[in-house]
Amino acid sequence: MRIIKTIAQTKRLIERVKKSGKTIGFVPTMGYLHEGHLSLVRIARRKSQFVVVSIFVNPTQFGPSEDLAKYPQDMKRDAALLKKENVDLIFYPSVNEIYPPDYKTYVYVKELSRLMCGITRPHHFQGVTTVVLNLFNIVKPDIAVFGAKDYQQGVIIKRMTKDLNLDIKIVLGKIIREKDGLAMSSRNIYLSPRHRKNAIVLYQAVRRIRHDFRQGFSDPKRAKTMMRQMIEKKNGRIDYIAVVNKNTLSPVKKLGAGTLIALAVFFGKTRLIDNTIL
Ligand code: AMP
Repeated sequence: MRIIKTIAQTKRLIERVKKSGKTIGFVPTMGYLHEGHLSLVRIARRKSQFVVVSIFVNPTQFGPSEDLAKYPQDMKRDAALLKKENVDLIFYPSVNEIYPPDYKTYVYVKELSRLMCGITRPHHFQGVTTVVLNLFNIVKPDIAVFGAKDYQQGVIIKRMTKDLNLDIKIVLGKIIREKDGLAMSSRNIYLSPRHRKNAIVLYQAVRRIRHDFRQGFSDPKRAKTMMRQMIEKKNGRIDYIAVVNKNTLSPVKKLGAGTLIALAVFFGKTRLIDNTIL
């Protein structure tokens, strides 16, 4: 496994890999890896012959009052985990490598970037699409694997890939959860023991709606109220609860197959997200 920090060296290696006829699978991450990330790496490993994982805490996707400065990092541990998964290359650039002082260019997927997480994080998805396109141009993958935990991100990246005619297959891996149901996240370590316990309610809330839907329940407004009540009982501060079409992200009038139930909730200062698709 190689660990490379520069774009130039990475491009040279990728060119050699392409010439050898191998297909490239890519998993972009911000590091501090857990089983959720590793599940995506395993998908990339299965579906391609040369696997690249990037570790880059991307400053342009954080708002001014968000947790960029204290985002957890442990490169040594990450590298050991990725070695075990037979990853071929870790691309580990500095901020200056990706955003040199004269950097000017941003990529923005209209409308979809303004909904849901984009309401309180208006620049977040622009940061994501900008860095992902840049990484795609460096790594030149045949497939790129993202997690369904960040479902909106997946929709936006698929849109960008289609709109800009990138020849990259975007694959979404399912949400990997802790034993009690909490979706794995690098940010879970910030939760106090009390918040950690209460945070299970995110999964319980979406599961409750999924359960009721199977019993014939179909009212989105009532679904939101039910989830809100469950979460507030556990002292979660709701950022948003969305009941939307999984492709367009626009609100649905009735729950149906393909309805996305997604939410973002603060426990203390930690913002967690979760979702399910009916
Ligand atoms: P991050 O390092 O948080 O930027 O995440 C990198 C990738 O891992 C993204 O595509 C996320 O959607 C995905 N991911 C994060 N947590 C999970 C999880 N619990 N299950 C599946 N994928 C995840």
